[in-house]
Amino acid sequence: MTVYNFSAGPAVLPKAVLEQAQKEMLDYRESGMSVMELSHRSSEFDEIIKAAELRLRDLMAIPDNYKVLFLQGGASLQFSMLPLNLAQKKKKAYYVVAGSWGKKAYTEAVKLSKTIDFQPELLASSEATVYNQIPTFDAARLDPEAAYVHLTTNNTIEGTTIYDLPETNGVPIVADMSSNILAVRYHVADFGLIYAGAQKNIGPAGVTIVIVREDLLNDEPVLSSMLDYRIQADNGSLYNTPPTYGIYMARLVFDYVASLGGVDAMQAKNIEKANLLYDFIDQSEFYSNPVANKADRSICNIPFVTPSDDLDKLFNKEALEHDFKNIKGHRSVGGMRASIYNAFPLEGVQELVAFMKAFEARNS
Ligand code: PMP
Repeated sequence: MTVYNFSAGPAVLPKAVLEQAQKEMLDYRESGMSVMELSHRSSEFDEIIKAAELRLRDLMAIPDNYKVLFLQGGASLQFSMLPLNLAQKKKKAYYVVAGSWGKKAYTEAVKLSKTIDFQPELLASSEATVYNQIPTFDAARLDPEAAYVHLTTNNTIEGTTIYDLPETNGVPIVADMSSNILAVRYHVADFGLIYAGAQKNIGPAGVTIVIVREDLLNDEPVLSSMLDYRIQADNGSLYNTPPTYGIYMARLVFDYVASLGGVDAMQAKNIEKANLLYDFIDQSEFYSNPVANKADRSICNIPFVTPSDDLDKLFNKEALEHDFKNIKGHRSVGGMRASIYNAFPLEGVQELVAFMKAFEARNS
């Protein structure tokens, strides 16, 4: 039986990309070495990282006045790098918290504010309703001199998405795009900075993408060179040894996405997959999706529950036996979650719906 991997990350990768990596594993393009063995200063790796950047620029239509960085430390390190770098002259920053990851970003900012001169403010939060919606706020409340407004474009655990960016009174938007980068079309020019861990739509864990508008780069050095956007940018992401193999895999995934028609094509396919599942859930009296407003629903992560915790447990057990891997909801919310990123096939969603139908018939 085919295994379908519904993991929220590290997540399923395109089979064609894995096969290409396999083909090139022992001898990368007649170098006589695997990519893992190449020096990060070699001409071969120079070509890989430049091609990765160019392809990403093309896929996301990244304007020339933005730097693209390939860093480490995951999206979680960006929670700290952001204030350290962006709040040097302007000391205030706003946080829109619509999920657990956004809360973590805000919590890290508060922690840092005890050490550096920086004032994070919670602008809006949907924590009181267990993050079942995207909270709104009045843009007129924002100090136009603030450094940034932080938001999470896709809430991986709760299954909500910001499709239309809010008005921010001229304050740059900084976004954690970890779980819907390259899956949903955004206009980079609407953001001051975008960051994303690679392990959902881009490649293996270990690479973090940062796309930052040049005028927002820090003027002063920060705490540590590794945490300094300007140093990373000035060194073309080669200040130290970067995650070379992860960048190579990202390059293969970028090429693959381009070959299928780019982000718009990915988004159309993701909408088709998501609609299949949402339509089934909506017509069922047995399953439900916890998101309050349909307009906020994610097309990448779809949480759902049965009428009881016991049935959720049984569903998860039987799903595993059926070779549906990692469909269990995040430990903080329970239930189930189908993460169906770019590389997740339509047939997997069709099979899931058939399985859900049969499970409902047996248990209701
Ligand atoms: N932000 C979001 C939206 C996420 O989904 C995740 C990981 N699931 C993170 C941040 C944390 O990412 P990392 O593990 O790369 O630090």
